[in-house]
Amino acid sequence: MWNRRDWMMGTAALASAAAAQSGPKTISISSANGLRATARAVEWMKQGKDTLDAVIAGVNINEEDPEDDSVGYGGLPNEEGIVELDASVMHGPSRRAGSVASVRNIKYPSRLAKLVMEQTDHIMLVGEGALRFAKAFGMREENLLTERSRLAWLTWKQSQRDAGGHNNWTDGLDAPPKAAAAALRNVFPGVTDELLAYAWDRAAHPVTGTINCLALNARGEMSGVTTTSGLSWKIPGRVGDSPIVGAGLYVDQEVGAAGSTGRGEENIRVAGAHTIIENMRHGMEPKDAVLDCLKRVARNYGNDLKRLEKFDINFYCLRKDGAYAGAALWNGRQRRTGFTSAQFAVNDGGQSRLEKCVFLHERK
Ligand code: ASP
Repeated sequence: MWNRRDWMMGTAALASAAAAQSGPKTISISSANGLRATARAVEWMKQGKDTLDAVIAGVNINEEDPEDDSVGYGGLPNEEGIVELDASVMHGPSRRAGSVASVRNIKYPSRLAKLVMEQTDHIMLVGEGALRFAKAFGMREENLLTERSRLAWLTWKQSQRDAGGHNNWTDGLDAPPKAAAAALRNVFPGVTDELLAYAWDRAAHPVTGTINCLALNARGEMSGVTTTSGLSWKIPGRVGDSPIVGAGLYVDQEVGAAGSTGRGEENIRVAGAHTIIENMRHGMEPKDAVLDCLKRVARNYGNDLKRLEKFDINFYCLRKDGAYAGAALWNGRQRRTGFTSAQFAVNDGGQSRLEKCVFLHERK
């Protein structure tokens, strides 16, 4: 006769056997800004399209959205007011990767990263070379700075002060100081109070932002993409983790896929996405794999909460059997995105949803 414990264990075993039998499901997960991206990725996979094409089509929504100021067109620029984009892709079935960094004037860096993967014998192209390569393949150069992001950048420029409170980008000595908002209204006629408030907020709290999107289809094939405009007001040429294979993105067809958003410098130091995949390869569950990675980030600061408090970093992972997790260093208000708690997007058919991340610390 089965006792209660045997029965429970037996049921659990049956459930996992059933899960194993049913095989991988079609699923896509992403950073919290990917509700639309994951929905499109799943829709494409259900139409039989390749997993990499599906995630790229998904993140193209963010890349072309002028309201998303952390990715592609409308992304906040570098300190000189020029938008510089980074992206990487990995294709599980062919085990190939492509990436671009510090590329200007190309709206879809994720597509460019795929072109590098498919059309060259290299993995990574940067800056001027990446732009020339894009043009060679017929990609159109476009100004990626929207009026909204130019306003935010100018506001930031004007907010910088020397010890005497002076800034060459505003009046002051030569002419009576005007309220900065009034001066900006002259340059941006018709600007609303709401838009000015947005610009001041971005100037005062420089944001990062990115989309990472991972996918698994019913045949068990996996791919991933990460695309970003990186840190706002960055030094020209600064490259974050997003285009670094093994940091911002890693896919191993035998194990799973992982990616990250948040302060890229911290992720590069722990090779986050690769670390997560290795953790799962050695048997960790997705949640434990992402939390372990966050602990490595925290350890690099001696677990000093005062310094850790200054940034956000999130990890996402999808195992080859469809199990997944999202993790955040901090729960509570997200510095990067303004979300009130750490979340990530999931679509496994039907409507996309936000799920809560596991986290290391709670922000007050
Ligand atoms: N990870 C990106 C970078 O550091 C930015 C972000 O995800 O917020 O460039």
